[in-house]
Amino acid sequence: MVALVDRLQIVVPCFNEEEALPETARQLCGVIESCIARGSIANSSSVLFVDDGSSDKTWRLIEALHASQPQRYDGIRLSGNFGHQAALWAGLSASTAEMVVTIDADLQDDPNAIETMVARYHDGADIVYGVRSERQSDTWFKRNSAGLYYKLLGLLGAEILPQHADFRLMSRRAIAALLQYSETNLFLRALVHRLGFETAQVAYRRTPRVAGATKYPLGKMLHFAIDGITSWSVAPLRAIGIIGLAVSLLAFLLGLWTLWAKLFTDQSIPGWASIMLPLMLFQGLQFIFLGVIGEYVGKIFLETKRRPRFIVRETASDGIAARPDRREREGGAR
Ligand code: UDP
Ligand code: MG
Repeated sequence: MVALVDRLQIVVPCFNEEEALPETARQLCGVIESCIARGSIANSSSVLFVDDGSSDKTWRLIEALHASQPQRYDGIRLSGNFGHQAALWAGLSASTAEMVVTIDADLQDDPNAIETMVARYHDGADIVYGVRSERQSDTWFKRNSAGLYYKLLGLLGAEILPQHADFRLMSRRAIAALLQYSETNLFLRALVHRLGFETAQVAYRRTPRVAGATKYPLGKMLHFAIDGITSWSVAPLRAIGIIGLAVSLLAFLLGLWTLWAKLFTDQSIPGWASIMLPLMLFQGLQFIFLGVIGEYVGKIFLETKRRPRFIVRETASDGIAARPDRREREGGAR
């Protein structure tokens, strides 16, 4: 009798990836075949593509892959573009295997690291992080802004692993734990970091995209960066209070100084600049603070709506039924 080996599913979010998809599918399939040959994963292991509302041929390619090798390729098609994080969530919710790897569709994360991840899983890790040993292939701007951002996140109390994005392996129980989180504003890498469990790391080199252009233009990236902070940490709100206190103290000292100048010196009354400059400074600060508060109020607004994080349009799969978001199952769209 053949010993039972755990099954692997590789979840791949795809947004307009028609150019990269054929090569990605080929390489991921290669990794699966080689792991099967080593006996580290089950024969029934597969790739699960999540089409995040692509407007190009992505879904047709996924359907064709499924038709050619139904046991190797599955697909879920979301009804629109819900974003990278929601697409990952959709894939994780639909997954059934004992271990699941999430990886981008553009092969920037090295698929060969998956074999090592599987080995760490067998060593007992529930979460295996893919960690970039270098990212020369990214632009100077992206590398440095990312480095600064990780530091800022750390300072604000959102613990994440530097140089780790969303390339990771998770065990069934880690996924089950993750799926208990019910927030709409998803920042997966911080949520996963919070889960606990036995973890391991696998280093890999980040390479350039195989094909196509980035689906994260600057605007989307900034949005993601702000979401990362405001969906996780209330430190900016607290900082407002502290800055407010400091500013009030400053104003009080300024008042004392004015009084002193008036009573004990014959200096002329402070002029236009000394009134206008602080006025403008504080006005500016107030707008920034209102903006920060607005960010959080917006988040509360979205969370209280408890919208489904994704909606499935159709699937290309023999095994996996279209699984709605947990919230849809619980109580229908609210
Ligand atoms: N992606 C997605 N939905 C989106 C944007 C991106 O599913 O709205 C996918 C995309 O197809 C890719 C992954 O998320 O597989 C990462 O995107 P990309 O490689 O464009 O980001 P970058 O590596 O440039 O940060
Ligand atoms: Mg990429």
